[in-house]
Amino acid sequence: MVTAEAPAIPSFSMELNEEQIQMQKWIHEFARDVVRPAAHEWDEREETPWPIIKIAAENGLYGLQFMAHLSSDPTGLMLPMAIEELFWGDAGIGMALFGSSLAVAAITGNGTPQQIGEWAPQCYGTAEKVMLGAFCVSEPDAGSDVAGMKTRAVYDQAKDEWVLNGQKTWISNGGIADVHVVVAAVDPTLGTRGQASFIVPPNTPGLRQGAKFKKYGIRASHTAEVYLDDVRVPGSCLLGGKEKLDARLAKVREGGKSREQAALGTFEATRPAVGAMAVGVARAAYEWSLDYAKERRQFGKPIIENQGISFMLANMKVELDASRLLVWRAAWMARARKPFAAAEGSQAKYKAGEVAVWVTDRAIQIGGGIGYTREAPVERFHRDAKIMTIFEGTSEIQQLVIARAISGMHLT
Ligand SMILES: Cc1cc2nc3c(=O)[nH]c(=O)nc-3n(C[C@H](O)[C@H](O)[C@H](O)COP(=O)(O)OP(=O)(O)OC[C@H]3O[C@@H](n4cnc5c(N)ncnc54)[C@H](O)[C@@H]3O)c2cc1C
Repeated sequence: MVTAEAPAIPSFSMELNEEQIQMQKWIHEFARDVVRPAAHEWDEREETPWPIIKIAAENGLYGLQFMAHLSSDPTGLMLPMAIEELFWGDAGIGMALFGSSLAVAAITGNGTPQQIGEWAPQCYGTAEKVMLGAFCVSEPDAGSDVAGMKTRAVYDQAKDEWVLNGQKTWISNGGIADVHVVVAAVDPTLGTRGQASFIVPPNTPGLRQGAKFKKYGIRASHTAEVYLDDVRVPGSCLLGGKEKLDARLAKVREGGKSREQAALGTFEATRPAVGAMAVGVARAAYEWSLDYAKERRQFGKPIIENQGISFMLANMKVELDASRLLVWRAAWMARARKPFAAAEGSQAKYKAGEVAVWVTDRAIQIGGGIGYTREAPVERFHRDAKIMTIFEGTSEIQQLVIARAISGMHLT
């Protein structure tokens, strides 16, 4: 029999709550008043913008408490919203402010509560003494192929110490960080499942910075090689502890499956955040283009009155909003502890990264000559956007991850 009762509609809303709106406003004002005015200078200097990090720390926008507050939002949206605003301000400075959070993500994702309590605060320091963290995975011969990692961690049982040897490269904050989280192979025969993450505390002998890279974009963010020569760290610096690692390795050696993979687990968690960075850069470029297209007159009218320009702007807006929705979906799923069954984190990062490159390219086109010069910020936006398709897994690797997830096959 048909009943008159309407089906229960599950609660769903896309409206932001008051706390989210206020937080967004606060960070937007900081990005507008502090970050943007400093962007060109630090891009040209190609140096870590210490004074800006300090001002951020003094304003409560750099530190563990800030990150914990953003991450505690039950909807998961506050973190990507905050990242979008900061990267809207400037991606280079944004990365200088968020680089430490990658190390913190590795610590919180793999560490014991005691390790998190000890090391996560040291990745940020205080407003009086700002500190940095670095997450060291990539190597000269192991970029996309993390399984090819050569850095080794060997246990010295007599001293209860781990000895790390190897070379890392392209590391954000590498060598200048106070806390380095280093991923190393404990059992290289097991690929990524034989790897573990280690804390290298401040001033540990044997860890040194190699070459600092001169980059195409995000130039206010320091990127360098890191050398590890007989770096000895206490047993307590193995994230998660030895008992857990031994149990995991034994399980894998017996042919069992372990979902825990030191580097890939962290990247999986941080991909929506990189998507949010990309959305921030893309939005900055879109907004600049819209304003410019309304102001700039050619043939006796604003250039936006040409469909070639207005449709371009329409498409930029659609792609931008689509990217943000994918980022928010992934962030919500991660917060709700829903597994990324169709690689939703990768979907968000892939789409937003590619869109950021495309939107910033279109922004230069709309700018014409001025867009191509350093008189306008869009050439910087374009250079900054490109990294979003490379780090934390290139666009090709994201497609591979998505293809594997949707097919259930181990595609290569
Ligand atoms: C500015 C910057 C900051 C960075 N920060 C960090 C950091 O803090 N920590 C860290 O550990 N790393 C960091 N990286 C490293 C970054 O994650 C790697 O550069 C990235 O993973 C790609 O590795 P790769 O450079 O070795 O490229 P490769 O792996 O050599 O790839 C080269 C090309 O081949 C393609 N390719 C490779 N394999 C496949 C495949 N199976 N199918 C299809 N195409 C494929 C790639 O997509 C790419 O187009 C940073 C890099 C940069 C540039």
